[in-house]
Amino acid sequence: MKAGAPKEHAERIIQEIEEKSLTPVPMYGVERTVIAVIGDERDISVSHLEALPSVENVMRVLKPYKLVSRETKPEKTIIEVNGVKIGAPDTVAAIAGPCSVESIEQMDQVASKLAELGTKILRGGAFKPRTGPYAFQGLGEEGLKILQATGKKYNMATITEVIDVRDVQLVTEYTDILQVGARNMQNYPLLRELGQAGKPVMLKRAMTGTIEEWLLAAEYILSHGNPEVILCERGIRTFEQATRNTLSLASVPLVQELSHLPIIVDPTHATGKLSLIEPMTKALIAAGADGYIIEVHPNPEVALSDAQQQLTPEQYATLHKNIQPIAAAVNKKIQ
Ligand code: PEP
Ligand code: MN
Repeated sequence: MKAGAPKEHAERIIQEIEEKSLTPVPMYGVERTVIAVIGDERDISVSHLEALPSVENVMRVLKPYKLVSRETKPEKTIIEVNGVKIGAPDTVAAIAGPCSVESIEQMDQVASKLAELGTKILRGGAFKPRTGPYAFQGLGEEGLKILQATGKKYNMATITEVIDVRDVQLVTEYTDILQVGARNMQNYPLLRELGQAGKPVMLKRAMTGTIEEWLLAAEYILSHGNPEVILCERGIRTFEQATRNTLSLASVPLVQELSHLPIIVDPTHATGKLSLIEPMTKALIAAGADGYIIEVHPNPEVALSDAQQQLTPEQYATLHKNIQPIAAAVNKKIQ
C-alpha cells in the first residue's frame, strides 16, 4: 500500500482476497502496510489489484518462502521481550542459563548472577531432546514451574524448549519464548501448532538444515498465524570432529539479506568447547547477529546435560565484560 494509505483501503483489498478463497496476511508497519496473499496465485489478477485505491505495487514473491522474506517485508521485525528489543538495530539480546533446569537452588544460583549483569532473558530446558533414551530427559512440568518462579524472582523473561506437539499449551502457559530445538526444525505438526501459540518462538537451525529449509520452517509458523519468530544459528554437522558442530556464521548476514526476522546465535552448541565460546560470541556480534544464547551453570561438572560446554557464572561475567568493546564497535548494546 502507499505510505499513509487509509485503513479502509487495506480492508477492501483484504475482503477481495478473501472472496477469492485466498488468505490475506496484512502486516501493518510504521510507514506502510503490506498485504501478503497466500494461495494459488493463478486466481489473482494483478492488474485488477493494482487499480484499487492506495495500492502502490503488486509483486509476485519468487522465493519459496513468502511471509518471512525481505521481498514481502523490507522492514526488520523487532520482537520485544521483557524490554529487550530483539532485532532492533542497536541491540544484542543476551539470553543465558543452564542447559537443563535441575533444581530451584541451581536456577537461583545462576539467575542471581545473570540478573546482576543485567541479563533479562533466562534459558533452561525442562523437556530435553537427548540423543539417548537413558540420558536425563528433563524435569518436565516441575522444571517449567522452577523456571517460571526463578524468572519472576529476578525479573527475567524465560525461554524453554518444547519438543512435543502435545505439550505446546502447557509450555506456553509457563514461559515467554518457546524454543524449537535443532532436532525439531522440520517437525511440521509442531511448527503448525506454534503458529497458534500466541508467544514468540525461537527456531533453531537443524544440524543438517539448509538455510532455505530453515526459512521454510519459519514460514510454517508465520503462515499459521504467528509473526514472532526468532531464528537461531546453532551450527551444522560437517566432517569436522574438533568442534561439536561447525558454526556457520555467514548465515547471519545472509539470513538478514533474505529475511526480516531477527537472527541470534548459540555459540555453546555451535562449538561444544568452553575456550571457543567467548571468541565466537565476539564474532557473532561483529557479524551483526541480533543476539546470543549461551549455557551457564553454577557447577558445570555436575550438570545433568551438556556438562562439558557450560560456562560458570564467573566465566560468563568475564565474557560479558570482554564483549562490550565489540558491541560498542558496531554501535550496539548488550541488552
Ligand atoms: C539446547 O538448547 O539445549 C539444545 C538441545 O540445543 P540444540 O537443539 O541446538 O541441539
Ligand atoms: Mn544444551
